Amino acid sequence: MELMDTHTHLYTEAFDEDQSLVIERARAEGVQHFFIPAIDSTYIERMYALEAAYPDQIHLMAGLHPTHVKENFKEELNLVEAQLKQRKFCAIGEIGMDLYWDKEFIKEQQDAFSQQILWAKTYSLPIVIHCRAAFDEVFEVLEQHRGEDLFGIFHCFTGTLEEAKRAIDLNFKLGIGGVVTFKNGKIDQFLNQISLESIVLETDAPYLAPAPHRGKRNESSYLTLIAEKVAQCYGVSVDFIAEKTSENARAIFKNQKIKF
Ligand SMILES: [Zn+2]
Repeated sequence: MELMDTHTHLYTEAFDEDQSLVIERARAEGVQHFFIPAIDSTYIERMYALEAAYPDQIHLMAGLHPTHVKENFKEELNLVEAQLKQRKFCAIGEIGMDLYWDKEFIKEQQDAFSQQILWAKTYSLPIVIHCRAAFDEVFEVLEQHRGEDLFGIFHCFTGTLEEAKRAIDLNFKLGIGGVVTFKNGKIDQFLNQISLESIVLETDAPYLAPAPHRGKRNESSYLTLIAEKVAQCYGVSVDFIAEKTSENARAIFKNQKIKF
């Protein structure tokens, strides 16, 4: 069985003690590829070091996370652009909007999101969207940029069936993670009404650990727990889910020189 963790922050402080063990555990469970979303410039060195240690398994994204869009967001965006000019990335992410904690930088978040979408189009890259308490605002930006060259993943999808269909119509796949195993996660209620062509798996480690680890540190080896729950939702085997979701991940990241 081969699985792909399409969203995992393996470079953060949460893994300082045991990063290589965490990666080995995941690989032992069949997780062979790790797609690594960016946060802001303070993590860039850590991301490059991780990639240098596992060049065939680690695939980096560039981008500015919406909760890190602050007064200095223009400088941060300049650094993202400089990176894109310098080298290859598998996607631009994670980008989007987050209005859960505060709306102080709503305009800046929207501008940063739009700008990064334009770069994704320039470099023919997928985008990986972070959307929290901001579905209307995110869809508004996406509608402005709608087109064949706009595609990617709606990471940690937690919306309704209607929002899922809207995202799929805009060329996006849904990133399904630990929330699918939560009692009140809701997505498990209608997941089987979404085509298997439209989902990929992710952990979002170290956040959002699936049951029975909910509330603890998440890690990529737990992707199997998510795959098992998704298999249950669709009434198919875990192997089939692994095969389909890996195929979908390949389709999204296909423009990049990734050795699969
Ligand atoms: Zn993330």
